[in-house]
Amino acid sequence: MKYRKFGSLDWEVSALGFGCMRLPQRRINKLRAETNESVKIIRSGIDQGINYIDTAWPYHLGDSEKILGEALQNGYRKKVKLVTKLPVFLLRKSEGFDSYLETQLKRLQADYLDIYLMHGLDKGSFEKAKRLGLFEKFEKAKKEGLINHIGFSFHDTLPVFKEIIDYYPWDMTQIQYNYMDTGIQATTDGLKYAHSKDIAVVVMEPLKGGKLANPPNEALDLLNVSEIDRTPVDWALQFLWDKPEVACVISGMGSQQMVDENCASADRSGIGSLSEMENQVIQKVADIYREKILVPCTTCNYCMPCPVGVDIPGNFATLNNVSMETGWLMTYRARRKYNIFEKNPKKVDSEKPNGNASVCINCGKCLEKCPQHIQIPDELKKVDAILGKGKKISDYY
Ligand code: SF4
Ligand code: SF4
Repeated sequence: MKYRKFGSLDWEVSALGFGCMRLPQRRINKLRAETNESVKIIRSGIDQGINYIDTAWPYHLGDSEKILGEALQNGYRKKVKLVTKLPVFLLRKSEGFDSYLETQLKRLQADYLDIYLMHGLDKGSFEKAKRLGLFEKFEKAKKEGLINHIGFSFHDTLPVFKEIIDYYPWDMTQIQYNYMDTGIQATTDGLKYAHSKDIAVVVMEPLKGGKLANPPNEALDLLNVSEIDRTPVDWALQFLWDKPEVACVISGMGSQQMVDENCASADRSGIGSLSEMENQVIQKVADIYREKILVPCTTCNYCMPCPVGVDIPGNFATLNNVSMETGWLMTYRARRKYNIFEKNPKKVDSEKPNGNASVCINCGKCLEKCPQHIQIPDELKKVDAILGKGKKISDYY
């Protein structure tokens, strides 16, 4: 494992962080996580040198923090920096802070957190955090020894990012960044801005919800022509570790194979390790992806569960698969997959979401939860038109 500077703090962080948002799923309810396998792979990551573990209140409907608490028993807690997030979007009153933090510490079986983040700040939730006096709450918890450092994760635009950065002496920030998302959300300018203030930047969504692991054929050809023996995942990760402004890259790992491959990638990482030619290849691949992705869903599941049982990320992934490759076979497969989702509202199960896009009742409950600001009901209508009713993609995108 390689270790890197963490902003102004006096500890070194592993290049790779363990994200606990995409742990091995339970068989029946795929929104929830399976305990034994999850504990095993988290410990394996730590054994391979990972010392930064990230989770949050809503991940896997609360299973993630509990499972991480289990995984950090038997001496593992002291080997890592433990990081979780206050769900600002769920808070109604400032007193909620105390009960969330208390419950999270219990779930994690921990006396303190190394870092506590305000989760998913955007313009609205930042104003809410100020209004509810959350900054004072964080300060108090720090004085009481319940948290050591304070940060925020972010989903909005560059001006909002700079405003938040300038508002408070943060220890770290967590941003969505990968070779496709250099110009959206915090952007490369935001990454550099935070770094210039000695604030550690942790990167999330390095593979854009797994999409960069499976490039379209056109992009694969480009990667192969470069004659560098590297998997698509390794290309995406090395792009990030190449940058001096990135402290740690969190990967949401859901299998032993992912843990082993990502740790091996991290072993090979280094600042400035990519050549000019390699960076050019990555830019060309990013351009190909940008043309093909129709809905920028990262399958984060924040919008789930939908009250009527629509599998929102599943429907978007199915549509995105169609646009990744040309040809009737891909379209045929995607339409067949779409038909496996349930379209009879009476048979849809909101506990094990399996509904297709046509089941959406346009209640709008998912809208404010989506960090990508996707107009979910509108996009679902397009999914149903293209995959359910056989309309052309070009009529909608
Ligand atoms: S708008 Fe549609 S997809 Fe979103 S929560 Fe409501 S029913 Fe579900
Ligand atoms: S629609 Fe938005 S909230 Fe839902 S899974 Fe996709 S990116 Fe996440």
